[in-house]
Formats: sequence, structure tokens, C-alpha cells
Amino acid sequence: MSTNRSERIPPFIVMEVLERAKKLERAGKKIVHMEIGEPDFDTPAGIKQAAIRAIEQNETHYTHSLGILPLREAIAQHYRDKYGVTVQPEQVIVTQGTSPALLLILCALLERDDEIILTDPCYACYPNFVNYIDGVAVEIPISAKDGFILHAEVAKQKITSRTRAILINSPSNPTGTLLPAENMRQLVELGPYIISDEIYHGLVYGEKEHSILEYTDRAFVLNGFSKYYAMTGWRLGYIIAPQEFVRPIQKSQQNLFICAGSVSQWAGVSALTEHHPELARMVRTYDERRRYLLNALRELGFGIAVEPRGAFYVLADARFLGANSYDLAFDILETCGVAVDPGIDFGVNAEGFLRFSYANSLQNLKTGIDRLKEYISKR
Ligand code: PMP
Repeated sequence: MSTNRSERIPPFIVMEVLERAKKLERAGKKIVHMEIGEPDFDTPAGIKQAAIRAIEQNETHYTHSLGILPLREAIAQHYRDKYGVTVQPEQVIVTQGTSPALLLILCALLERDDEIILTDPCYACYPNFVNYIDGVAVEIPISAKDGFILHAEVAKQKITSRTRAILINSPSNPTGTLLPAENMRQLVELGPYIISDEIYHGLVYGEKEHSILEYTDRAFVLNGFSKYYAMTGWRLGYIIAPQEFVRPIQKSQQNLFICAGSVSQWAGVSALTEHHPELARMVRTYDERRRYLLNALRELGFGIAVEPRGAFYVLADARFLGANSYDLAFDILETCGVAVDPGIDFGVNAEGFLRFSYANSLQNLKTGIDRLKEYISKR
């Protein structure tokens, strides 16, 4: 096997599905997109206006490597207001999305062969990030039986002298589950740092999401504007880090990325400090779609033992259609023009499952379900 990390890294399968779907679209086929984890909504108008103002005021230069102070203050204030936790602006590092933020955290934490505890299934890229920098991803199987939750007593058995952190994601991609407060408290007590990917915060339906900072300061918060604020293309995220890690992360940021985009940062200030009525409407709409999709998929025979309560995904057991989710997803795409993400993208424990994203209009979801119904009836 090649030792080159760029050759070693596996593809992000959902992007492969999307790219195949786009090719079919270019050939004139109508595709229903239920694969991609990207809001179908436009960025709220007030946020766009703030960015336009920033351009007009020539806020188009490099910024401080940690991010502009008004944004770092707004992030600290947001965590104070929403979760009642104390965050100093000095602990905040603004990044070009959550993805580089995770890379910066892992680079600050890991030496070669150090371990990060993850779940299987988890967000597809997590283990790939860890392996990319020569760490070891220790993946703990979670299943519908225990609510797709990483229980502390199970995690404890995997802790070794090389464990540097436990990486959690609530609400979760791909399962949509939220970690209960008690569970987070118990994970914190295990000792290793917690890296808490809070990117789906705000996208919750009836339950309250918790920040890891409610339970400990020995944690790295990973968050960004892509999902709740419908700002994927703006590439804006951030880290809230223990103070002693800020300087090392800052030095990596200076060398590797310099700073996050200036215009996007001013848009982020507006996102956090101004009222955007679109946001609540988007959450209500996602919830409506979620409820529709849960019923419709169950009627088609998909197994959903744990109802998702956050993010915009349904991870459904599709084993009645075949054991190989990769082949199944591509067959569904080619045969009936519905793009879905195979469970194997998220780990071997999600093999046989498909992830459906409801970041698409109710009308399109209904078309997708009709097509799937026909697909299933013909098998
Ligand atoms: N974490 C999770 C769990 C995600 O689902 C995603 C996007 N699919 C990301 C991080 C990366 O988001 P971004 O880089 O756009 O902030």
C-alpha cells in the first residue's frame, strides 16, 4: 500500500454519489437529492446584507489569525446566552468551516499513534481526519438498541494511555440523535478531553441540545455556520479551546490557512447578533419534513428504531433491499433517480442502512418517496 496520505485517504462517498447524480443530471435525468448534508435554504437576507456592507466598507483584507474580535466576542456571548457557560473571546479561533477546525484541533492534540475515540457510525470524515495525521481512530460500535448513544461504561473500556480525546457529535450525523445531559456528564468524567462537534446545534425538534461546556472546561467545541444558518458556501466555523491550546492552534492557523474569510466573518457577526426570522421558519420546515419522511420510509418497509430528533437526516435500515449499502445506493440512483447516502460511508456498523437527508423541499421528498415505492415494488 502507498504511504502517501493523499493516496491513502478514502473518498467521502456522499460526494461520489453527488458527483454521479450531477453527471446524470447533465445527461438530462431528473434526480431527487436526498444525499447531501446541505441546507436547501438560502442564507437569511440580513446576513447577506451584512456581507455586502463589509465588501462596500473594504473589509476585504486578511484578518487577525484568530478571527475578528467582534465575531469572537459574539461567539463567546452566544455560548453565554444559550448555555449559561463562561467563554472568553480569547478562547475562540475562527476558521474556514468546521472541517479545518477539526484538523487544527487534532494537530494540536495528537502525536503519531495517539488515539481518538469515535463511534461507529459517525460522520464519515472523522476517522479519515485522524488517520490522515497518523493518529488512530478507535471506533466503538453503537446501535439502535442503545439509542445510537455512546455509553460511558463502554467508552471507558477503550481508554488507553494513548487516548487523547473522545469525539462526540450531538445532534448527530448520520443518526440525528441527541446525547442526554447525563450521558455527557458521564463521558466527561472519564478523563480524556472531549471534542464536541456542535455544528447541528439549533436544528433540534422538541428536545434541547447541550453544549459540552456545560459539563467541563477540558473540551474543544467545534461549531460553524454551515447548517443552522444555511451558510455552507461561506466557509465559516470556529473552535472554542482550553486557553493553553489557543496559541499552538493559532500558530498552525497562521501557517496553514492564515485566517478565515473576512467577508464571511462579518456575515457571521450578523448571524449571531441580529434577528433573522428565516431561522425559526427553517427549523419548523425541517421538522415538518422529518415527520413526513419518518412515516413515508416506515410505510415503505425501512426500519427506523430510533427517531432522529436533530440535524436533518434519517438513518434507515434498508437490509430488506440488500446487504451492500454502497451497491444499493448507486442502484437506486441509476434506476430511479433518487440520490441517497450508503450507510457504509459512516462505518461498518451502518452497513445495510441508507441515510436520507431531508434538506430538500417536501414536494421533492414526496417525488423521491414515490420513486422509491416503485423501485421497491419492482424488486
Ligand atoms: N461535522 C459534521 C458532523 C458535518 O456533518 C459536517 C458537514 N457535513 C461538518 C462537520 C463540516 O462542516 P463545515 O466544514 O461546512 O463547517
